[in-house]
Amino acid sequence: MDYQAFFKDALDTLRDQGNYRVFAELERHCGAFPRATARGGQTADVTIWCSNDYLGMGQHPKVLGAMHGALDRCGAGAGGTRNISGTTHDHVQLERELADLHGKAAALIFTSGYVSNWAALGTLAGRIPDCVVLSDALNHASMIEGIRHSKAERMIWKHNDLDDLETKLASLPHDRPKLIAFESVYSMDGDIAPIAEICDLADKYNAMTYLDEVHAVGLYGPRGGGIAEQEGLMDRITVIEGTLGKAFGVMGGYIAASVELCDFVRSFASGFIFTTALPPAVAAGAAASIRHLKQSGAERARHRTTVAKVRAGLEALGIPHVDNPSHIIPVMVGDPVKCKYISDVLLRDHGIYIQPINYPTVPKGTERLRITPSPVHSQTDIDHLIAALAALWEQCQLARLPLAAQ
Ligand SMILES: *Cc1c(COP(=O)(O)O)cnc(C)c1O
Repeated sequence: MDYQAFFKDALDTLRDQGNYRVFAELERHCGAFPRATARGGQTADVTIWCSNDYLGMGQHPKVLGAMHGALDRCGAGAGGTRNISGTTHDHVQLERELADLHGKAAALIFTSGYVSNWAALGTLAGRIPDCVVLSDALNHASMIEGIRHSKAERMIWKHNDLDDLETKLASLPHDRPKLIAFESVYSMDGDIAPIAEICDLADKYNAMTYLDEVHAVGLYGPRGGGIAEQEGLMDRITVIEGTLGKAFGVMGGYIAASVELCDFVRSFASGFIFTTALPPAVAAGAAASIRHLKQSGAERARHRTTVAKVRAGLEALGIPHVDNPSHIIPVMVGDPVKCKYISDVLLRDHGIYIQPINYPTVPKGTERLRITPSPVHSQTDIDHLIAALAALWEQCQLARLPLAAQ
């Protein structure tokens, strides 16, 4: 076999379909985020409008101070898996911080949110005898891979559809083990699951619940515990999963649950056991970020204000965007070529970086620009963004919504 030709053909097919991914090479400016320098080709100053560092915590002085401190105290890496010399004081403190954040008895950290979903779902569904996983149709790839890896029976219920979930639950024997896996904020549409009602169904049909709060932790709830905290539901969820890489601004993933469940995953999950622990500095930075956001609501308040201003700007111009209750603003383009073109021109002519979101990340015909405002975007940044989008909507002759009567 001509291996190189095979690789090239596969990539050419991807390109022909418009699905080939091109990365923007950025250098973030610490202390001045969302400002960055785009490199690789012509160098340009850009404002990032699509980061998952939702609150700018990646440059927060407390986070940086904790990381510098741990780096100087402990050095670069953890030096081993958690079992073999890699469990440091910083890891243990971070797990305590996370358990407390979610009102759970324990927490367990992983090297990323992806790994936490893959390892925890794979282990729970794989080792609980005869377990059935009821998985929301729009669950993240890391959950899907974890469920697949478990080899457990899987039932996919229609996205956020309680009737469909109940029909599927009711079709199963009452005492058969069941795990309902879903997210709180879905990252592409920014819609939010009916968590209380899903918990009601879980109680009625004797199921465990596994909630991915990756796009909500740090952002919602009085202490940043997520949507479940905001709605007073944390104690009803069996497993809360989150990331340290988005609103907390650092890196890593975790689950928070009972002592027994966390100990079970710690003891049986290959993806936890056989990999080097996070660097202590990363754990210390994440812990500082969580600690700060537990007692400070200022970032969340400013975040909500910026999101509202961007939405109002889009509405005033009739630029179509998904109306949802979250911080994610999907601006709908509905055409892959135009979506990529708008993104390219925003970067080239306006110094605005927004990654186009095309198929297969979203269904064909729903291509979009996913805007994520942060508390560190200024009014000037917002005005500049709205003006650039207005010019491009005109130029590309994209549909506008009828303006509300003045
Ligand atoms: C980003 C994401 C993850 C993975 O988290 P990482 O820490 O980036 O690996 C898991 N679930 C959802 C819904 C995500 O969007």
